[in-house]
Amino acid sequence: MAAKADKPADRAEDTARLILSLRQGGVTDPAVLNAIEKTPRELFVPDQWQDRSWEDRALPIACGQTISQPLIVGLMTQALTVEPRSRVLEIGTGSGYQTAVLSPLVRLVYTIERYRTLLGEAEARLKRLGITNVITRFGDGGEGWPEQAPFDRILVTAAMETEPKALLAQLKPHGVLVAPVGRGAVQTLKRYVGDGKGGFHREDLGDVRFVPLLPGVAREL
Ligand code: SAH
Repeated sequence: MAAKADKPADRAEDTARLILSLRQGGVTDPAVLNAIEKTPRELFVPDQWQDRSWEDRALPIACGQTISQPLIVGLMTQALTVEPRSRVLEIGTGSGYQTAVLSPLVRLVYTIERYRTLLGEAEARLKRLGITNVITRFGDGGEGWPEQAPFDRILVTAAMETEPKALLAQLKPHGVLVAPVGRGAVQTLKRYVGDGKGGFHREDLGDVRFVPLLPGVAREL
């Protein structure tokens, strides 16, 4: 990958600017901000977008998918209220950027992607960064990962048309699930918090734009 021919001072400036705009956007958890600051987003962005990798915007990646906007990654990670002992299930590995941001904050991340190409590239990036607490799977994340359930936290990074019932069933009694839910181009970011008795408290966290969660695995590479 053609690394951005950037002076360290420029990179530090880009990073500082992004962190400031995330704070202004409502990401206040220092651990989350620190994880974003330390995750080299340029490694997750295609060559032609290198000079925009520290801008607060979603960018195209392979297979017609996107790497999420850093503000949304920050807000979702914060909303998940992870703990150092959390085992987290992530649906939609994509570039692996959200996975990498989560990894230093939790014990284990299980991540599922329906494109082999994306999953392979994400695995290579995580390895290059020396991240060892991520377990990947090629498959349909809509079904969750029953063999590894229940999870402390579940994060969905593709839009679900309806309430994620199958995934909620794989959450611990006091677990937290964060997912974009809705049929249109704009969805509502929802948080479900287990009440310990099999029910959930539901909260709306605002509007987001995600690519759709699609059924099955991709037939293309
Ligand atoms: N978190 C990613 C953004 C991913 S975009 C990042 O930080 O880069 C959403 C991803 O969800 C895409 O890669 C898409 O292929 C994947 N996806 C969509 N439906 C899926 C499904 N049913 N199972 C697993 N992954 C799915």
